[in-house]
Amino acid sequence: MTASYETVIGLEVHSQLLTSSKMFCPCGSDYQESEPNTRVCPVCMGMPGVLPVVNKKAVGLVIKTGLALECEISTETKFDRKNYPYPDLMKGYQISQFDIPIALNGRLSIKSPDTGKKYIRITRVHLEEDVAKLLHRKEPYGEAYSLLDINRAGVPLMEIVSEPDMNSPEEANEYLTSLHSIIRFVETSTANMEEGSFRCDANISVRPLGSKELGSKVEIKNVNSFRSVFRALKYEETRQRKLLAEGQNIEQETRGWSDDRGTTVSQRTKEYAADYRYFPEPDLPPILISHEWVNKIQSEIPELPAEKKERYMGIFGLSDYDASVMIGDRESTLLFENTLLYLSESMGQKDAAKAAANWINVDLNRMKNELKSSWSETKLGPRELANLIMLVDDGKISNSMAKTIFDEMFVNGGDPIKISEKRGLSQINDTSSIQNIVTETLLENQSAVDDFLNGRDSAVRYLVGQVMKKSKGQANPQVASDMVTLELNKQKKQ
Ligand SMILES: [Zn+2]
Repeated sequence: MTASYETVIGLEVHSQLLTSSKMFCPCGSDYQESEPNTRVCPVCMGMPGVLPVVNKKAVGLVIKTGLALECEISTETKFDRKNYPYPDLMKGYQISQFDIPIALNGRLSIKSPDTGKKYIRITRVHLEEDVAKLLHRKEPYGEAYSLLDINRAGVPLMEIVSEPDMNSPEEANEYLTSLHSIIRFVETSTANMEEGSFRCDANISVRPLGSKELGSKVEIKNVNSFRSVFRALKYEETRQRKLLAEGQNIEQETRGWSDDRGTTVSQRTKEYAADYRYFPEPDLPPILISHEWVNKIQSEIPELPAEKKERYMGIFGLSDYDASVMIGDRESTLLFENTLLYLSESMGQKDAAKAAANWINVDLNRMKNELKSSWSETKLGPRELANLIMLVDDGKISNSMAKTIFDEMFVNGGDPIKISEKRGLSQINDTSSIQNIVTETLLENQSAVDDFLNGRDSAVRYLVGQVMKKSKGQANPQVASDMVTLELNKQKKQ
């Protein structure tokens, strides 16, 4: 008999807040671009006798994130010390929030592959400081040693903790994608995974189906891409189900993910909250959060991805797929909406939206992937994209010409009309010019014409191809095809 199991997953995401200075000192938070140990002062180096000062902007960004996740905002909040000894923790404790986080009891809707729409409860969003970076080396001495870069110590992080409401690695992936997108829309963090400003820890356990008790939790730490989180959870789900099926126990522990080997590896047994000896931070007074402050932040929250998706499907008639791809990326939605401002008067709104969505979802993403470029490197603007779409709609250029022009606009910018003139890319729509080319082509390809007259319809495609070749790809393919068919049918009747 094979037993049925249920997987239970909860996620903790650490995301760096978009502030220019650190959490408790005036040092710059741009540690990524700086030489090691150049963004430091006595406060973030953990010198004795110094006092931290709270970065108000960071508190505001956590409130904003909490509101976007439908959380309640605490009217009074405080900081706590989380004590543990490790070389990357300059003070020997981390300033974090223990029992009164800034935001709590929220929710996030996801599209579950199994059950459709589903809400994942958000336990809390709290504020804490990042730790220094340890770099483990061997060269040039041959003996292992570690370097410490304190630039990152004290950079503000928010931690977003979910309830264990996800039942598959697929649902966890949906949750992370949605959360990432929301954070990018409200602009509280760059949420750049590659740079480590969006890091994920996952809890996963497995229990017999119908059981109310949670199984032993395994925590997978600091996985650095959506794909790796998904792979690590898939691996762990299989490993735990196999152990249970064999009647073995699952150890409550922390495991690390190895991308190269595609496995998780035991690291240490899990700590409990009591191990950290949390106590209220004596150097910082509690923070009062007024209704006025919360209301002001609420008014600054833009339209969120889920609402945008509904609007795109409703008013603009985009498909579920097109709308989902579009809202995955804030910049895509900005380009899409701004392009439509230049377009919808001349084209029908839905035609304009479909065309713009195609260019952005398909071609723009293709170019971004091919050139491994980011949004900031793209020279393409909404007015230029709208002009390109209109050139195609007016039949002045063909789709394949438009792709060539698009690729150039992506890299160098510029106006599509000028690019098409410069490159000699324009479509011949003039019927008398095309008629001449068709007549010549049929005369030069008598055997293909005979094939058609003997019943081989595929000869039409060949002849249209020859017309396109003769016109150097500039004949309007639809007009050319119509004319070739018309001419051949005339000959058939003779
Ligand atoms: Zn500092």
